[in-house]
Amino acid sequence: MKEFQLIEQYFQGRGPLRKDVVLGIGDDCALLKPAERKFLAIACDTLVENTHFFPDMPAQALGYKALVVNLSDLAAMGAEPAWMTLALTLPEVDEAWVRDFSEGFFEAADYYGIALVGGDTTCGPKSITVTVQGLVPEGAALTRHGAKNGDWIYVTGTLGDSALGLDILRGTVDVRPEYRQALIARHYHPTPRVLAGQSLRKLASSAIDVSDGLLSDIRHVLKASGCGAMIEVSDLPLSQGLKDCVSEEQARQYALCGGEDYELLFTVPESQKGALQTALNQAGVRFTCIGQISAGTQLKLKLHGEPYEATFTGFEHFK
Ligand code: ADP
Ligand code: MG
Repeated sequence: MKEFQLIEQYFQGRGPLRKDVVLGIGDDCALLKPAERKFLAIACDTLVENTHFFPDMPAQALGYKALVVNLSDLAAMGAEPAWMTLALTLPEVDEAWVRDFSEGFFEAADYYGIALVGGDTTCGPKSITVTVQGLVPEGAALTRHGAKNGDWIYVTGTLGDSALGLDILRGTVDVRPEYRQALIARHYHPTPRVLAGQSLRKLASSAIDVSDGLLSDIRHVLKASGCGAMIEVSDLPLSQGLKDCVSEEQARQYALCGGEDYELLFTVPESQKGALQTALNQAGVRFTCIGQISAGTQLKLKLHGEPYEATFTGFEHFK
């Protein structure tokens, strides 16, 4: 099967129909008609075999994940997904693989209403690059630089499950059989918080998605905002699976350092706490207050109010 046949069969004419796509796949460029008074939000993420995924990762999961890791970036800006391009580099044309990949890819594309408008297909070591474009009302985007002293720090969902799922796949951790699939699913099928991000537009002072791990990602916010923070480690939202499968201290490490949860970390001023409750309940997303922004530039961790030193021994860092 030739490149253009592959595109026609598995990528062209699939996904949601959008009125703002004037010309989609098939010409030298796509033509799009952006809405007035909206900003374009653009993000790009690459997944490389052996660096970001194992060779045996199911193609369907990979197709889904290649897209949702990008949607998570749009979510963190409060943007609504609109269009995307896909650059596929494959060592050979394995039609069954491409079919499964496209299934997972369009499962996410259909659900989040994002149209595939172009891409590139090349031969080489397996890697997948997705570039997404979203729309956000002028001046309404969430950024990393707006956190202020006194703002409350929140996170959606639960933390650490994806990293534990990855360790299960690596074979470095053994967990109770009833949790195995669910934890692996959190690694293969993360949920980008697209609606939650849009609901936070007028409420949050800053936001970021947790892709590298809570500690690493909150530091980006603190640096960009020029402030410090206190995190109460006992308040971190942990799933039942994580709590039941590893020790308390290991669970804390997964939640603080584990990557790829794709939850949103955001700050909210005291005055918006009530509105936040309403907005995220409407979006149907669980969220938890885990600390507060402070003056200075230091990140302090506490456990039940006492200074907390992470012990984290016998465990390698994720990524
Ligand atoms: P060109 O040589 O002009 O770049 P290509 O032959 O690479 O054109 O691509 C033909 C059309 O197919 C273009 O519209 C391009 O955007 C689209 N396309 C190529 N690869 C992909 C892909 N993996 N996914 C979606 N569209 C693709
Ligand atoms: Mg091309």
